[in-house]
Amino acid sequence: MQTIFIVGAGTMGSGIAQVAAQSGFSVQLFDIAAQQLERARATISGNLDRLVKKEKLTAADRDAALARIETVTQLDGVAAADLVIEAASENEALKLELFAKLDALAKPEAILASNTSSISITKIAAATKHPSRVIGMHFFNPVPVMALIELIRGLQTSDETYQKAEAIAKALGKTPVAVKNSPGFVVNRLLCPMINEAIFALQEGLASAEGIDEAMKLGCNHPIGPLALADLIGLDVELAVMQVLYEGFKDPKFRPAPLLVEMVEAGKLGRKTGEGFYRYDK
Ligand code: NAD
Repeated sequence: MQTIFIVGAGTMGSGIAQVAAQSGFSVQLFDIAAQQLERARATISGNLDRLVKKEKLTAADRDAALARIETVTQLDGVAAADLVIEAASENEALKLELFAKLDALAKPEAILASNTSSISITKIAAATKHPSRVIGMHFFNPVPVMALIELIRGLQTSDETYQKAEAIAKALGKTPVAVKNSPGFVVNRLLCPMINEAIFALQEGLASAEGIDEAMKLGCNHPIGPLALADLIGLDVELAVMQVLYEGFKDPKFRPAPLLVEMVEAGKLGRKTGEGFYRYDK
């Protein structure tokens, strides 16, 4: 049985832990905040209970998966891990420091992966003494549901690291897509400018928010309109990605829509604040 050490037990870390445990990996889930570990265990347990109720999982498999997850408040377990997946807060200084530490603790053949949405894998790898074993494993939210992992090769990532990460991604039941290290990778590079353009369209009065969303649902068969999707993702997250693309490429085509900036300034971040392009009753 292979061991995965996950750093950060928030939305993504807990989802990755659930999927890894369900796929038979032995998991250690680490966070600096003990309450996040408690919350992660409760979320995972609730998710698995729901699968049992729907008869998609047996009670025995649920219990076995839960038994494979250990929550920890120390990094000691990194030494025994075959793969470390970092899913801590999106902060560059934090990740550079973490990777230097993880690199010093991990065994030589272990792989160090980051789930970052926007920070350069090449830069993260450069913070370690063994940059060839660093790779991006970009999961999507909610992790138990979304099939994709973007596997991002930094400039230094070795073929061996890529192949090992690819094998683990498949063992997790996901479909890996190889992507070069570049701002936004593939999905955010395409998705966020589309949403940003929808916000420009709204700002210009091209159509109402409902009209824009309806047009994209019926005209492109999208399951959700771009503005409703922006509310779901969080307008602050959408703005942060656009800023990364704009800074990364220095290309005006990635400039954030002024209305997006203003909505974030007003604290209208979408579902999480109860209002974005639509209102959400608590
Ligand atoms: P989150 O805020 O839900 O969780 C982050 C966790 O990291 C928190 O529990 C926090 O206590 C912990 N943390 C902070 N500093 C730490 C440290 N030094 N060591 C260990 N843990 C630490 O965030 P999230 O949404 O789960 O995002 C995590 C990462 O995944 C980010 O890099 C983000 O860009 C990326 N990501 C997020 C999504 C998404 O949709 N939420 C999708 C793909 C990738």
